[in-house]
Amino acid sequence: MHRGRIAPTPTGLLHLGHARTFAKAAGYAKDANGTLVLRIEDLDKARCQPEFTTQAIEDLKWLGIQWQEGPDCGGPHTPYIQSQRLVGFNAVWKMLHGSGSIYPCDKSRQDVERTLVAPHAEDDAEPIFPNSLRPDLSAGRNATSPGNTNWRFRVPDGAVITFNDSIQGPQSFIAGKDFGDFLIWRKDGMPSYEMAVVADDHAMEINHVVRGADLLKSTARQILIYQALRWSIPHWSHVALINDAKGQRLSKRAAGLSIKELRNKGLSPAEILTAPVDSIVRL
Ligand code: GLU
Repeated sequence: MHRGRIAPTPTGLLHLGHARTFAKAAGYAKDANGTLVLRIEDLDKARCQPEFTTQAIEDLKWLGIQWQEGPDCGGPHTPYIQSQRLVGFNAVWKMLHGSGSIYPCDKSRQDVERTLVAPHAEDDAEPIFPNSLRPDLSAGRNATSPGNTNWRFRVPDGAVITFNDSIQGPQSFIAGKDFGDFLIWRKDGMPSYEMAVVADDHAMEINHVVRGADLLKSTARQILIYQALRWSIPHWSHVALINDAKGQRLSKRAAGLSIKELRNKGLSPAEILTAPVDSIVRL
């Protein structure tokens, strides 16, 4: 049984790229006679705003994108709002801790950047965590809760992580080279994006993940989490990103190509979802 999901983060208005990616996820679910889940990823308390959740739901409905589980329709995995799912995230922290793959880390981003010799790759904002800052394997073994500290996943250096993306083709990343030890838990008591998304996709029994191609490297990190927990790994489809008329990646700050704005300009849902991108970005 196909189970897909769409997972907007309410830090801004949904844009053309979201519309097309979410429509694709909805299309796969429909073709497979499956279920589409809507999950709101609002863990970044400082940047998420409830108005953006309301607007995202309105935009999705207006576009005709239908979900069968989530806000407004409930379902067996309720709540579908990540900030209300902290009990489950704490349980997954315990499982990861039990697997021996995470350690407490009090190094700041500045500490990490100070030890780097080369600037990090531009396509991924996360600098590679240097091995010299790793504690030994016993660090944090006696902890019974995350406490007020960050926790990182210790990546298996040199391990090759491969997956077959149904849109982008075969993918391959090397742990320790393409990305380093990554954040699992934040000292403010919240899981990181990588952990929350895996915890929820597993809890909600998602077996097909459709999202933007900017998350390909994150997928490699997430596969390591799945493997540490011995959970089955979903199918992946990463949709190419859309650029604006200046060739810049669409961002939530560029309101011009938001669904709300395109709708105000008189475009229909069908035009937003199917018209040539060039004709829309030049509007
Ligand atoms: N919430 C993420 C975003 O809006 C997407 C996460 C995902 O699909 O895995 O960028």
